Amino acid sequence: MSYSLTMTSGSPTIAEVNLAAFNENVRTLKKAVGNSMLMAVIKTNGYGHGSVPIGREAVKAGADRLGVTTVEEGALLRESGISVPIHLLGSIMPEQAADAVYYGLTASVSSIKLAHAISDEATREGKTIPVHLKIDTGLHRFGISPGEASNFCKSCYNLPGLQWEGIYTHFSSADERDWETTEQQYKLFIDTVSKLHDLGFNFLIRHVGASTVAIERKDMHLDMVRSGIALFGYPPELHQRDLISLKPVMQLKSKILHVRELPPNTPIGYGGCYVTTTAEKIAIVPVGHGDGYQRALSNKGEMLVRGHRAKIVGTISLDQTVIDVTNVPDVCEGDEVVMMGGQGKEEILAREIAGWMDSIVDEVLSSLMERIRRVYV
Ligand SMILES: *Cc1c(COP(=O)(O)O)cnc(C)c1O
Repeated sequence: MSYSLTMTSGSPTIAEVNLAAFNENVRTLKKAVGNSMLMAVIKTNGYGHGSVPIGREAVKAGADRLGVTTVEEGALLRESGISVPIHLLGSIMPEQAADAVYYGLTASVSSIKLAHAISDEATREGKTIPVHLKIDTGLHRFGISPGEASNFCKSCYNLPGLQWEGIYTHFSSADERDWETTEQQYKLFIDTVSKLHDLGFNFLIRHVGASTVAIERKDMHLDMVRSGIALFGYPPELHQRDLISLKPVMQLKSKILHVRELPPNTPIGYGGCYVTTTAEKIAIVPVGHGDGYQRALSNKGEMLVRGHRAKIVGTISLDQTVIDVTNVPDVCEGDEVVMMGGQGKEEILAREIAGWMDSIVDEVLSSLMERIRRVYV
């Protein structure tokens, strides 16, 4: 007789994803960008929320296009039946051109080699593939320098099988509220587009902005805005909460595996870097840095138990974390633990976790590994 695992045999550590909140955030952002198109950026497994359910919900809520980084992410979305344009926001290798063409993914192009590879594949398949030219205005990651754009277009614009549907750039300092730099980069982009236009190289869709621009700079929306982190309930900058109303989409929960009482002077965890001062009650939670619950939270982070904050004590290991529950009344095994989300009157948002880690919300959310079961509610 065969036996299969049931839902109850899974780890109690789950990421609860509120699709209704996500749907509402997409609509809110869509309204914020007005007549411009909205690209829902759902790279990195939908910022940790799960590519396919998030992709489907984004389209249902009115996102015009989706943005991912890798060909695999795009292929997964296509295989799940999503038919809106899917952009590859990262650069790809020329040898990935065949898969990008097969799945009808819109590549970002800024190399002659890649332009030729996509053109060759598209021609072989008898297709015309839309591509977007990436201009580097100051992030200095990938992209064509403004000064090289006209030569690039002279050699690649008329390649068969390519439709140069769009042109875009990505700002380096918009989330840091450095508007002077951002405005310079915007101007450089607009000037470049205009020079190319004068030479007969035209692009239908111009886009520059991500979440911050969607929320703060209507004047930079152009034909499309690419919003990522805001869709998940976190505008990049704290003060933007006053400009737009968004709901956190994910809660991270688990249960207490064990409760123990330890005498004073007891070291806890690897290296014994935490030592009890008084008698302490501790609880073991089955989550660790192997789940993407980062080791940087050791001795810093907090979790909620019975509506109280409980501090993480000792070093977080791969699969387990110890919290101090001395001050939590009636605590017992099986109690719900909220690592991210609300419980009683308390709430821990991803932003607070990011602060403990000296990082940003994007890293908190997208680090969460596949083995944390996503539960869609
Ligand atoms: C990730 C990404 C975005 C989305 O940025 P958010 O700040 O999360 O909205 C937009 N454009 C590009 C090119 C990206 O890589």
